[in-house]
Amino acid sequence: MWLAVSATAAETPVYRARGLDASTVDFVLGNFEFVLLHELAHVVIGELKVPVLGPEEDAADFLAATALLNTTRGDPVSYRRANTWLLAAAEGLRLSWAEGETRTGELPYWNSHSLNIQRFYSIACLLYGNDPDAFADLPAEVGMPAARADGCEAEWQKADRSFRWLLDNFGRKPGQPAGPEIRIFYAAPKTLAAGELLREIQRDGMLERVAGAMRERIILPREISLRMRSCGRPEAAWQPEQRELVLCFELLDALYQLSGRRDTNANRS
Ligand SMILES: [Zn+2]
Repeated sequence: MWLAVSATAAETPVYRARGLDASTVDFVLGNFEFVLLHELAHVVIGELKVPVLGPEEDAADFLAATALLNTTRGDPVSYRRANTWLLAAAEGLRLSWAEGETRTGELPYWNSHSLNIQRFYSIACLLYGNDPDAFADLPAEVGMPAARADGCEAEWQKADRSFRWLLDNFGRKPGQPAGPEIRIFYAAPKTLAAGELLREIQRDGMLERVAGAMRERIILPREISLRMRSCGRPEAAWQPEQRELVLCFELLDALYQLSGRRDTNANRS
């Protein structure tokens, strides 16, 4: 369940933010919303007992990516932001791979998550498969061979069909009243960077927006909470016993550090 950014990215304490430019905010918020949606996918799968044919961690990534694009498609501004942020999430996984596994030489083959570099290619494939014209250059830019890229439209369609199946079978029906509340709590961050990034998240209204969109489409059997707090680790996790999805401020610090390692020449958005 735990989703962690490479621990090495969070080794250096962040005492001073260097000022947040728009691309840093896009990078961090894109990654953070993807983590939030990934964890909410675990909530939906666990709480509604959704059948999962294969590793749940991969299903959560596919659900998060598909939900992000499908629920914003009707609004050009939101849809463009969803594409930019999902690309940022993919980039975050690629950078985590470069920062973590390759540097330490520890490849967690045993982990329930696919390797971050595989998760990167899967998200890139969904982005390209959903809109091959808009992302025509993406496969070449990220070094995705035709053997994978040629199948991305089919991969997207399968993910899209699965998302619709989920809503058809487990979603809220027209006229059905909304389910239990999704409560949201914010503690106070300990670092300046996390504080500034939390302000951006609150300015965006991310947690409230995502929770609202989820209650429109899904009825959970019981009330849950989204809680942003310090945990001592750069992680996020759904904790079913507490009915609480915890999003750690250290994840914001780690993503902020990671954003500083982007190759600005390779920015695509
Ligand atoms: Zn997970």
